[in-house]
Amino acid sequence: MEDLECVFRWVIGSSVRLRERNVSEKRKVLEPDAGAIIFLHRSQFVADAFESMEDVIILGTGCAGLTAAIYTGRAQLNPLVLEGTQPGGQLTTTSEVENFPGFPEGIDGFAMMDNLRKQAARFGARYAHAKVDRIEMADGVKRLVCGEQSYEAKVVIVATGARPRLLGIPGEEEMFGGKGVTTCATCDGAFYRDMDVVVVGGGDSACEEALFLTRFCSKVTLIHRRDSLRASQIMAERATTHEKIEMAWNTLPQAVMADEKGFVRGMRVKDAVSGAEREIPCKGAFIAIGHIPNTDFVEGLLERDGDGYIVPETGSQVKTGLEGLFAAGDCVDHVYRQAITAAGMGCQAAIEAERWLAEQ
Ligand SMILES: Cc1cc2nc3c(=O)[nH]c(=O)nc-3n(C[C@H](O)[C@H](O)[C@H](O)COP(=O)(O)OP(=O)(O)OC[C@H]3O[C@@H](n4cnc5c(N)ncnc54)[C@H](O)[C@@H]3O)c2cc1C
Repeated sequence: MEDLECVFRWVIGSSVRLRERNVSEKRKVLEPDAGAIIFLHRSQFVADAFESMEDVIILGTGCAGLTAAIYTGRAQLNPLVLEGTQPGGQLTTTSEVENFPGFPEGIDGFAMMDNLRKQAARFGARYAHAKVDRIEMADGVKRLVCGEQSYEAKVVIVATGARPRLLGIPGEEEMFGGKGVTTCATCDGAFYRDMDVVVVGGGDSACEEALFLTRFCSKVTLIHRRDSLRASQIMAERATTHEKIEMAWNTLPQAVMADEKGFVRGMRVKDAVSGAEREIPCKGAFIAIGHIPNTDFVEGLLERDGDGYIVPETGSQVKTGLEGLFAAGDCVDHVYRQAITAAGMGCQAAIEAERWLAEQ
């Protein structure tokens, strides 16, 4: 009986999609369970009786989105998760995650995201390959427009993350995430113990990354295209006076150079004044020139800061200014930008979503 109840719930949640399909397709979807066939006819009735709307739609399948899917799934909200163009999010671009709690030996980034995905599916999360172009609001309904297609929901959790800004020089992409080019010292610094590395950038983040790396690395060369740092005075002073940090002023990165195994061996740079080129030997290249939050599609709808991060309501990390619309992870957080913090925000957004729906 429990099985049948489960199928019944699944059918209710799928009412919108089922209505669109023909009967043979419905049978294909439901065939594995004999009980499901019995409920097929009932489902048609149910589909007509209910609004063609999802309770919860989650945008993004990074740590924030999938954690929100696990929580809303376990709360029987049958979430629909739209994957965007990077299923699994940023962590799928890295080989080793050593700082996510629960994995004493570390875990491959792709495997970790696959686990999260399966965990959410176990509690009823459904996935669709769709990238949201804009959100339209009308009478409390959120309409998500994805090209020709659209979805409607009572609650939307935006967990669309951010993408690191890269230099766009040869070698960078090929060696990104596992072969020596990275954008996160907190994540990857420990892999470069007793090695020479370079950090590219001139703001607070670049200085922070360089200072953090001095804990592990033998030498950190901070490459900056100008003759003074953009960073706050205190950060700039700490970086430029640190014994392990060497400044490469007026220096323009030209290419990341690979060794015979395809790992970083150095960075070719050009002097912005003299035009002379040289190679700075290093095992790791940390690009610290900022992130771009994936939030263009909420322009004019949600408040964003100057860099495009969604600004949460005062006193909350995940509530936006709009009822039933929550945001979590790296599309909001420009400070920590970690898998665990994104997952934590996904959990908060899910609990808030559940409460909001219960209040309605
Ligand atoms: C190379 C690298 C290594 C890292 N290593 C570590 C590490 O070791 N430890 C650690 O804690 N952190 C690490 N991080 C940081 C970590 O990956 C991020 O903090 C985390 O992935 C953020 O999760 P998120 O869910 O907020 O967003 P993301 O992981 O960025 O996921 C965003 C999701 O949103 C989807 N999306 C985007 N736009 C749309 C749209 N318009 N419509 C629908 N969906 C959309 C994308 O397809 C994607 O699925 C690393 C990051 C990088 C780049």
